[in-house]
Amino acid sequence: VPGLEQLRFANTFAQLPAAFYTKLMPTPLPTPYLVDASAQAAGLIGLDAEVTASDEFIQTFAGNRIATGSQPLAAVYSGHQFGVWAGQLGDGRAILLGDVAASAGGRLELQLKGAGATPYSRMGDGRAVLRSSIREYLCSEAMAALGIPTSRALSLIGSDQLAMRERPETTAVVTRMAPSFVRFGSFEHWYYNNRQEELKILADYVITGFYPELQDAANPYQALLAEVTRRTAHLMAQWQAVGFMHGVMNTDNMSILGLTLDYGPFGFMEAYDPRHICNHTDQQGRYAYSMQPQIGQWNCYALGQALLPLIGSVEATEAALADYQGQYGAKMDELLHTKLGLQSHQADDSKLLDAMFALMQGSHVDFTRFFRSLGNLRLDDASADAPLRDQFIDRAAFDAWALQYRARLRMENSQDSARKLAMDASNPKYVLRNYLAQIAIEKAQNKDFSEVRKLLQILENPFDEQPQHAQYAELPPDWARGLEVSCSS
Ligand code: AMP
Ligand code: MG
Ligand code: MG
Repeated sequence: VPGLEQLRFANTFAQLPAAFYTKLMPTPLPTPYLVDASAQAAGLIGLDAEVTASDEFIQTFAGNRIATGSQPLAAVYSGHQFGVWAGQLGDGRAILLGDVAASAGGRLELQLKGAGATPYSRMGDGRAVLRSSIREYLCSEAMAALGIPTSRALSLIGSDQLAMRERPETTAVVTRMAPSFVRFGSFEHWYYNNRQEELKILADYVITGFYPELQDAANPYQALLAEVTRRTAHLMAQWQAVGFMHGVMNTDNMSILGLTLDYGPFGFMEAYDPRHICNHTDQQGRYAYSMQPQIGQWNCYALGQALLPLIGSVEATEAALADYQGQYGAKMDELLHTKLGLQSHQADDSKLLDAMFALMQGSHVDFTRFFRSLGNLRLDDASADAPLRDQFIDRAAFDAWALQYRARLRMENSQDSARKLAMDASNPKYVLRNYLAQIAIEKAQNKDFSEVRKLLQILENPFDEQPQHAQYAELPPDWARGLEVSCSS
């Protein structure tokens, strides 16, 4: 089996001027052990699954061994946190190892998270605890399997070294992969420091490396803002359609590539309530489920502000941002039609959808289970409705809605079996529910990593029935009602 020497590191980001980062070594992690590695993520950079169990791999992705050619660094950025300018932040515990060739073409950056303090750590210790690292590891791969743009997770390496949070917890290092970890806040950093030269260097770096098709636009910076706005609007629609809540949509957590980035106190909607707040630290509900689309837009405006000196005029900047709602609306409409198995678009569809969401909210139906079971509806056989209608408190109201839905399906000659196939391919059966992550975390904290592995395997095929794992699609148990997820990580 070839080892890690097949990873040829380049340091493309390090070719930016020195002001963009601090070169430094990861802080060694004492007696590291492999908690898990993602074979699919490894495959993206041409690594065999066997390699991920090697000592060389563990030492490298614990931060104890520097791969040939890698020049580790921490990047600087700033950002708005909870709507307020926070000034300089930066990679406080993330260390970029460099970039390697991706099997599918292009390059992927490899970044350790939790690999020790950096000049940007502020009061933090530079570490990440096993608990939050398991959540980031699993959710990165789960989102990818759901077809949602995201950073990936290559590996999760644990250690018995403790970090102090609400209580002492053991630490871990997740290796994340993405073509780039540049954030909206990377641009804001230079804008708010009045460093227009660096602002331009960063924009040119992003356009040349990741949006080469924009180089020939009349105003490439305006084109960049328009494209990031479009991607962000689409990402928000994809989050909403699967019930994903990020929890900390600060501008420093917004990817310039439109990827889901920085998994902290995220959650998947269970009992449907659009006001749901997944992050216990977010008292005001700034990042509640229903707020995400407009916060995505707010963040694009923050990016627009930062790019304004390059774009050249307020009018041109506003023009690049103008299509956010149109892009979001169109994508959401498309995704909701697919979720309902609708192939055509009709004038009254939004009424049908609004009525459905109102019913879902009234009965607090489980978001994932509702959509998955909706695919079992039969046009001419209401006797198959029981598992669906039993989710509703007001059965009569559900029956009335189902009547409209059936009528709508008949309008386009919908066929039961074809519709179910299409709906099952867009309504996942398995998502990373907090209680599932919690069970895996508690086992892992007792050195049993089998549940992390098992969960990953199930979440890699979220649309498959996997009848042998049906209990992983169950409602959260009573003990999970009190589960709170905060920024503590
Ligand atoms: P987040 O809210 O997780 O996106 O983090 C915001 C900022 O805090 C980023 O600059 C992080 O690098 C930094 N940060 C978070 N946790 C730590 C930690 N334990 N040590 C150092 N920096 C941290
Ligand atoms: Mg962050
Ligand atoms: Mg974070």
